[in-house]
Amino acid sequence: METLTKKETIALRDKFIGKSCQLFFRKDPLKIVSAKGQYMFDERGDAYLDCINNVAHVGHCHPAVVKAGCEQMSTLNTNNRFLHDNIVLCAQRLVSTLPEELEVCFFVNSGSEANDLALRLAQIHTGNRHVIALEHAYHGHLTSLIDISHYKFNLPGGPAQREYVHVASCPDSYRGKFNDAKDEKSKIGELYANEIKDICDNVKTKFGEGMCAYIAESMLSCGGQVIPPPNYFENVYRHVRAAGGVCIADEVQVGFGRIGKHWWAFQQYDVVPDIVTMGKPMGNGHPVAAVITTRAVANSFLNTGVEYFNTYGGNPVSCAIANAVFDTIEKENLREHALVVGEYLLDSCQMLKKKHVCIGDVRGVGLFVGIEIVKDRNTREADYETATYIVSRMKEEHILLSVDGPDCNVIKLKPPMVFSKENVEDVVTTLDRILKEVRHNKEESFHQNRATRPIGASTEVIKETPNRKPGLDARIKSI
Ligand code: PMP
Repeated sequence: METLTKKETIALRDKFIGKSCQLFFRKDPLKIVSAKGQYMFDERGDAYLDCINNVAHVGHCHPAVVKAGCEQMSTLNTNNRFLHDNIVLCAQRLVSTLPEELEVCFFVNSGSEANDLALRLAQIHTGNRHVIALEHAYHGHLTSLIDISHYKFNLPGGPAQREYVHVASCPDSYRGKFNDAKDEKSKIGELYANEIKDICDNVKTKFGEGMCAYIAESMLSCGGQVIPPPNYFENVYRHVRAAGGVCIADEVQVGFGRIGKHWWAFQQYDVVPDIVTMGKPMGNGHPVAAVITTRAVANSFLNTGVEYFNTYGGNPVSCAIANAVFDTIEKENLREHALVVGEYLLDSCQMLKKKHVCIGDVRGVGLFVGIEIVKDRNTREADYETATYIVSRMKEEHILLSVDGPDCNVIKLKPPMVFSKENVEDVVTTLDRILKEVRHNKEESFHQNRATRPIGASTEVIKETPNRKPGLDARIKSI
């Protein structure tokens, strides 16, 4: 229920909430007061189609999830130092979706807590400290994770890179260091994986130490909706393990059936991580997350003699909610739905690519899709201005998208899993219209430039924009 006008909410937020806290569309933020399924409603009751909220996994305010939470809240909520069915049933369920080696669960409250615990487990198990993470990856807001998140420590005001943190290239086959324009497609995965081997070798030579962990999202969301090439993870895991390290799959954004075919995105590849972390979609908006690992890793933790306790992790309400999310995915066949609707979305975006030259690449699996906006298809140069223009125009049309990637030029789609084919049609028709607008604007600007162009001046079609990395404020992020 709204008690303040939007203006009053903004004034109080400006006064009392830390200015560094991210806000979508900061210049003209949305005040969302309710939501249902894939729609969010502002204070005037206007609907917005939510294409970016992977947390509201089975749909905003799903009645079965709300009911499970309310019922458990009115019965019992306490920490998990007492026996309770909800936590063990949730653990059993999570383990049933994973390869059999992954059999021990720890419950926490957020993706950050999950990744922090994963690092702690890795350090204890291996006795090593060196961590490899990927360029432009984000793994959480805790100090331990900002230190390994290139996405954050690489910013001008971020902390200095730690000696034990090693950043490897993002395995992006489109605009990455190795890509399908210049490298043999089937070799790209191996080329990126060789970098990981080099890092392990350098650590051995320079410090005389083995590796602690390699951590990566199974598909890179903050990295720009990147789907790692075949043979990448298989080779990386081999190199890391040979150097004494463990492999952590961060499934916080991409897990829980989003890709349709599997429960977890790493299952697209022939690998079994030593540790898997999960969060966001797990509670459909309620804070619940987990770390799942092997018996060997869990035993190393046990053998320290230091007991683990987390006040809220795995409480009966959180686990009731997580179980209801599982039930809903199964009852409503949402994985199959993600596969069908995701394919339709991908095909429709491919059609758009055929019509609009500013789309350089379209990629995706299930309901995880990226549209890469470029200035020139040959050079593949990122076009941040056009990407952000599209996102802000789509917002005016009440369709919520975001941009990400190192150059903030990849439009991200990762909607609630109930996203329908009709929603795809709305998104694609509106995008098509806005992309025509973009072309028209560029042509206008070309004609204006020609009209005012001094004799002998450049004939470039698109007005060059300053070659700068967009600032934090300018980004419209969905993390
Ligand atoms: N890992 C990834 C890949 C994420 O995207 C995020 C959050 N965006 C986190 C970890 C951290 O999760 P949380 O915000 O729940 O702490």
